[in-house]
Amino acid sequence: MIRENLHTVEENICAACNRSGRTREDVTLIAVSKTKPVEILQEAYDLGCRDFGENKVQELVDKYDKMPKDIRWHMIGHLQRNKVKYIVDKVYMIHSVDSLRLAEEISKEAVKRNVTVSILVEVNVSDEESKFGTTSEDAVSLVEAVSALPNIVVKGLMTIAPYVENSEENRLYFAKLKQIYVDIIHKNIDNVFMEELSMGMTGDYEVAVEEGATLIRVGTGIFGERQYTTV
Ligand SMILES: *Cc1c(COP(=O)(O)O)cnc(C)c1O
Repeated sequence: MIRENLHTVEENICAACNRSGRTREDVTLIAVSKTKPVEILQEAYDLGCRDFGENKVQELVDKYDKMPKDIRWHMIGHLQRNKVKYIVDKVYMIHSVDSLRLAEEISKEAVKRNVTVSILVEVNVSDEESKFGTTSEDAVSLVEAVSALPNIVVKGLMTIAPYVENSEENRLYFAKLKQIYVDIIHKNIDNVFMEELSMGMTGDYEVAVEEGATLIRVGTGIFGERQYTTV
């Protein structure tokens, strides 16, 4: 099943790239493996997946220990400051930095372990109350503040678009994140390398790719529905 799903997702990414004049290499597919057991992750790994996304610290650490070491682990879920220390030397990128206090904690732990952590600033472009992320208005100043911290590098922006039936409804949010990204590039902030736009999930990744996503986070579309009762 995973093989067929991955094949479909790949075809869809390529088609979206073609429609928007981009190349497949511009887009990294992150396999969002939360709630799935390592045997299932291994299946995806054997089919070529090297980027995996998790949203819980404990689960990421467990899977990190059990899975091959060439995997790039992406922390995509809300991160509590007291848990930063468990993942700071294990993650390839933290997508969900939404406050200076969290960034300060990441920086502090990164200095202790002598590592540099790549982060994305999460922006709540749709202004949904239920969502984490800085407001669009505060995104630039948060990027500026975070960029001054040691052992942390701002690599781009991330957003979680609303759940919608028709993915076209999210196009404006993806375009809005891209616009903030471009605004930040034009500011030429030291230690800020705007390279990544993490946007698009199973329901809307094709639209996100058309709007410039470089990292798409696909769970259900690869692994099938999640069952939250059995972990
Ligand atoms: C779960 C999750 C995804 C993947 O969602 P699907 O709809 O299953 O593709 C992407 N991003 C974040 C932040 C998530 O928590």
